[in-house]
Amino acid sequence: MTFAIRFHQTGGPEVLRWEEVSVGAPVAGEARVRHEAVGLNFIDTYHRTGLYPMPLPSGIGLEGAGIVEAVGEGVSDIQVGDRVAYAGGPVGAYSQVRCMPAHRLLKLPASIDFRTGAAMMLQGMTAAYLLRRTCRVQPGDAVLIHAAAGGVGLIACQWAKALGATVIGTVSTEAKAELARQHGCDHVILYTREDIVKRVREITGGEGVAVVYDGVGKDTFAASLDCLRPRGMMATFGNASGAVPAFDPLTLTQKGSLFLTRPKLADYTTRRDELLDIGQELFNVVVGGQVKIEVNQTYPLSEAAQAHRDLEARKTTGSTIFLP
Ligand code: NDP
Repeated sequence: MTFAIRFHQTGGPEVLRWEEVSVGAPVAGEARVRHEAVGLNFIDTYHRTGLYPMPLPSGIGLEGAGIVEAVGEGVSDIQVGDRVAYAGGPVGAYSQVRCMPAHRLLKLPASIDFRTGAAMMLQGMTAAYLLRRTCRVQPGDAVLIHAAAGGVGLIACQWAKALGATVIGTVSTEAKAELARQHGCDHVILYTREDIVKRVREITGGEGVAVVYDGVGKDTFAASLDCLRPRGMMATFGNASGAVPAFDPLTLTQKGSLFLTRPKLADYTTRRDELLDIGQELFNVVVGGQVKIEVNQTYPLSEAAQAHRDLEARKTTGSTIFLP
């Protein structure tokens, strides 16, 4: 027997339950992974609250790192004993042991430990596709990254800086501002006090930024559009403050022939070769030292509810992991 966090109804963090579960042998195409660490992501809260509906009861969590202890029929490129990490695929990462489709697993480079692996896969591959595929950031581009001291934020700021961008980040507190500065932000805006659009226009000499990466959603969406240069790209990729309401595309014309996308990681890693490419790009910048993964909070997996409370109360910075 083994334990996992599950929920039987949607709601606040209190719906998360530490339950005994049975994990069978992996079926064809699967590998059974014993987690050494599990990642916390904001999307987990959307599953828990029902913003992204799930059939109930449900497991939760999309990211983990551990050791393969069995493989099902037809699995050849992943073997028993491999050190692996993953992001995406079926929910259920908040568990001590689980079966996963083997084609979603990546082998962890020897120099990346399990805690870092569990912290970096989802937020790091998100930064990778946002900066290198949704919009290909060029040296000299000014980019705006909201929630710059968060999980995706700290990784994206460092990576954008390494690509030669001028990085503008938004944060809610002075302490987070300092952290963002230490991780590649050239300019930090305290969006709880300052006017984002005014500050971005000042910083960019009136021009506006080439791209806005907005994981905050409802509270920042309108201002984000006003920060763009003509033909700039708005990547609204999350709902930390709530979902963005319905939107009239004519607004994009009025504000300068803007591009708007609402991307998700799954669509950039559907095929195994895409997943391997993005995973490798992430491993390269982490092993190469351009991006440091900051695991700033660690909780026992059984205390997942407290981690959700802290994440939603904006108390966390960088990445958060669970130890099973
Ligand atoms: P973070 O660590 O960034 O935590 C969210 C941050 O958002 C907070 O720390 C806070 O920073 C900011 N925030 C602003 N308003 C609120 C609010 N009302 N309530 C809570 N937080 C708020 O989380 P992640 O790195 O896990 O994810 C960041 C965003 O990216 C999320 O929206 C997530 O859903 C999205 N995402 C999307 C993916 C995709 O492919 N589409 C993949 C991965 C993540 P501050 O206090 O500085 O404002």
